[in-house]
Amino acid sequence: MSEVLYIVVPCYNEEEVLPETARKLGEKLDSLVGGGLVSPASRILFVNDGSCDGTWAIITKLHRQNPHFSGICLTRNRGHQNALMAGMMECRKRADIMISMDADLQDDIDAVDRMVEEYKKGHDIVYGVRSSRKTDTFFKRFTAEGFYKVMKALGVELVFNHADYRLLSRRALNDLAKYREVNLFLRGIIPQLGYDTAVVPYERKERFAGTSKYPLKKMLSFAFDGITSFSVKPMRLIINAGVLVFLVSIIMMVYTLNAKIGGRTVSGWTSLMGSIWMIGGIQLLCLGVIGEYIGKIYSESKHRPRYRIRENLEEDERTPEDE
Ligand code: UDP
Ligand code: MG
Repeated sequence: MSEVLYIVVPCYNEEEVLPETARKLGEKLDSLVGGGLVSPASRILFVNDGSCDGTWAIITKLHRQNPHFSGICLTRNRGHQNALMAGMMECRKRADIMISMDADLQDDIDAVDRMVEEYKKGHDIVYGVRSSRKTDTFFKRFTAEGFYKVMKALGVELVFNHADYRLLSRRALNDLAKYREVNLFLRGIIPQLGYDTAVVPYERKERFAGTSKYPLKKMLSFAFDGITSFSVKPMRLIINAGVLVFLVSIIMMVYTLNAKIGGRTVSGWTSLMGSIWMIGGIQLLCLGVIGEYIGKIYSESKHRPRYRIRENLEEDERTPEDE
């Protein structure tokens, strides 16, 4: 018996690309089913992320014409990551494997076959990784690659040049459900799931119609979310700065006292300089210490799972617990 595959596609105002996307994905699914790689119960699940155009109308029409197409509609726009999460959490009741991709098909859909093959070799998570960014503008490439480097420097585990084109097995989806955080940054969470992973390289194309739904402002807030959700290093910087300023204050003390003894100062300067540096340093240090505690509270409040169990010999199949 072959596995049920769900392809999850978040869509926000994508009426220009949807008909073509649906046609191509439909053909892809037919060929996968025809080749016996996946079960005929497989579906393409569109998630309408509160679009204000005809996106949902197109999705319902597709569903009426062909049961291979399915859809869910969010009550309002919640952003790409949340829409993707909604699709993934819905499909895990029926799917054995899930592949997520963007509605504009910038990611080569022929990589789907290779992803499913990797799954069959025993990989629970398969990352689609861009082999080149030739079609991206210089600006997009520069900012995107810079982002991966900054994240790495801050100690966040990320797969370089991997966006949200990936395959997850059902048990990986069930584990993902245990991450309760509201500020979702899936690229940071998925590597934390563990399991055997594989990488499938592909060439990224240009958007064939419509405009990017990720303007610079959304991109920046996405990057900021990623950093603040996974790293407490920015907060550590405060403590480091505090220690530094404190050390400088000691040097300043010695220097100003020396100047005073040498009679090279006006009266009041020594005490002023000394106290400004000293108090500045102490304040920064205290802020940093408070920051450490807030960081702990922050990570506790996310209620992330402490560990995940890969297999349990008592159970054959793990059932979704968090529905
Ligand atoms: N998207 C979404 N909600 C949003 C913004 C984007 O569901 O609020 C979807 C969008 O429809 C697309 C995917 O996220 O399927 C990626 O968006 P886009 O292709 O515009 O991003 P880019 O490729 O320019 O980074
Ligand atoms: Mg795109």
